[in-house]
Amino acid sequence: MRGPPQVFETPIALRCACGEMRAEVAVRRPSDANRNVCCCAGCQRYARALGRADEILDEHGGTDVFQVSPRSLVFTAGRANLACMQQTPKGALRWYAGCCNTPLAITLQSPRVPFIGINHRCVVAEDRAGFLTTRVGAIRATVNGKFDPSLAKTLKARPIDLLRMLRHIGWLMLVWAVRGDQRHSPFFDAATHKPVLEPPERVAFARAAAERQSSRLALGCG
Ligand SMILES: [Zn+2]
Ligand SMILES: [Zn+2]
Repeated sequence: MRGPPQVFETPIALRCACGEMRAEVAVRRPSDANRNVCCCAGCQRYARALGRADEILDEHGGTDVFQVSPRSLVFTAGRANLACMQQTPKGALRWYAGCCNTPLAITLQSPRVPFIGINHRCVVAEDRAGFLTTRVGAIRATVNGKFDPSLAKTLKARPIDLLRMLRHIGWLMLVWAVRGDQRHSPFFDAATHKPVLEPPERVAFARAAAERQSSRLALGCG
């Protein structure tokens, strides 16, 4: 028989490697979060760009990440160290501690999609994986991996697990959207809906887009 659902009153503590930046995530029940492992090339490139691939990626190149409501994260120290990276024009915003290049969270570019994905590396715990299993539940699915056929069977999420994971995060995001949690995201300005920091790469993306546009105009001058 299942006991009553576990409720945690204390938030999950986050801290960058040097300790300058600290934050807390309020997740009362494991079912209030969605944990998975992302093996996409973007997450791998990001881990390498921060110079912490060995601490962030597992042996198969996966990043352990859990999605929570945008209003659940609050900074408790060193917020001024927050930095943001965007690897591709349509890519996610990757928020990290600029003091020591520790990954913190990922969001989409639009504040309307109400979730933030917390990177396991900033979670304060001796045994991070075990702690996360207690607090935000087991890994629901390993996604976006291109595995060797011999590994795929054990690593790749079964369609049923993927479906269950998508149903879970879909339900959570609906609840967060209806509650208006995205208006309380620490990563977006509530009034302007813009990210609180402009990723430096955006200037180059905009320049490249403008150049493409002008060459199109020059070619199609008829
Ligand atoms: Zn730091
Ligand atoms: Zn990824």
